[in-house]
Amino acid sequence: MRVGVLGGGQLGWMLARAGDPLGLRCRFLDPSPEAPAGRAGELVVGAYDDPASLDRLADGAAVVTYEFENVPVSSAERLAGRTRVFPPPRALEVSQDRVTEKRFLESVGVPVPPWRPIGSRDELARAVAHLGCPAVLKTRRLGYDGKGQYLIETPGDVERAWAQLGAAPLVLESFVRFDRELSVLAVRGRDGAIACYPLVENLHRGGILRRSLAPADRVPPALQARAEQHARRVLEPLDYVGMLAIELFQVGEGLLANEMAPRVHNSGHWTIEGAATSQFENHLRAVTGLPLGDTGARGVSAMLNLIGALPDPASVLRVPGAHLHLYGKTPRPGRKIGHVTLVADSRAALDRLRAEVEPLIPPDPPGGS
Ligand code: AMP
Repeated sequence: MRVGVLGGGQLGWMLARAGDPLGLRCRFLDPSPEAPAGRAGELVVGAYDDPASLDRLADGAAVVTYEFENVPVSSAERLAGRTRVFPPPRALEVSQDRVTEKRFLESVGVPVPPWRPIGSRDELARAVAHLGCPAVLKTRRLGYDGKGQYLIETPGDVERAWAQLGAAPLVLESFVRFDRELSVLAVRGRDGAIACYPLVENLHRGGILRRSLAPADRVPPALQARAEQHARRVLEPLDYVGMLAIELFQVGEGLLANEMAPRVHNSGHWTIEGAATSQFENHLRAVTGLPLGDTGARGVSAMLNLIGALPDPASVLRVPGAHLHLYGKTPRPGRKIGHVTLVADSRAALDRLRAEVEPLIPPDPPGGS
């Protein structure tokens, strides 16, 4: 069976490899001939809005999905006229615009940090006065890995923030003094079955995910249940099919949604070695109508992103329990070019592995964020 995928980055590369043993062949559409997914599947090089390239992607595909959410909704809709498209284009639309996303999350009962849409400098000044400082100004669209964001620490920062970002539609959010960042990864099948992975604890620096720990430590059943309820509230009204990630801020017992991704997610990479079924396999199972796989963890895992620079592969692979994934991308500051997953039987053993491997990972060179 052929699966068309919009986007050909490392997420697509890992999808293709998960599909291989299931007899699923992925074909990708990406504007770059260097797209990493081309190493594991057929690559159509073209723009996301080029009708001929979209038709080529859909040709013979039983289903089309995405590994990148900033593709035009109109392209997903065009494809939906030719074949099945999962997750539904509406999920893509919701997650592309931070204002639409927050309105949707609030409408289904998932709490988000206090926010205001911003369309002018005066609106920004009023919103800063209303929400208070610190606050984070973000572009509504096309933001990722902390790009298109400005931290407003005092009302005096409004001019500079506006000068930097004011050309695009914006949203202002209260800065959340969270206890930690978590993500919930959930999958919904074509039959409506839902499965959730254990909560993941994430560390970001400079807006970029650096490390995930899974299952997250100190998660009482009520917290896991709340996160799963949030996921269900997003999945069901959208009649969603596929993997969904929601990034969360934990504040006390509460969980505020930061953003959602209608696709496999970086904070789920640990599932390749650390869960009974990987997020990539479960995404493909869902969109092709196969039964969902067990989302339980096997031991405890740490996923360390390789950003801008690579470690010596031999030094990492010498450590038992360390798994190396290199995406074949040219290193650039701030660019995710691989990851290492460590899997152990106990938290103490995982801590020992981390102490061995983390010092081997070179810091992200300056200039990326
Ligand atoms: P985003 O691009 O919205 O996922 O933001 C990237 C990272 O910036 C998040 O994972 C947080 O670490 C931080 N961040 C974003 N928004 C806020 C906020 N409202 N309050 C505190 N930290 C934030």
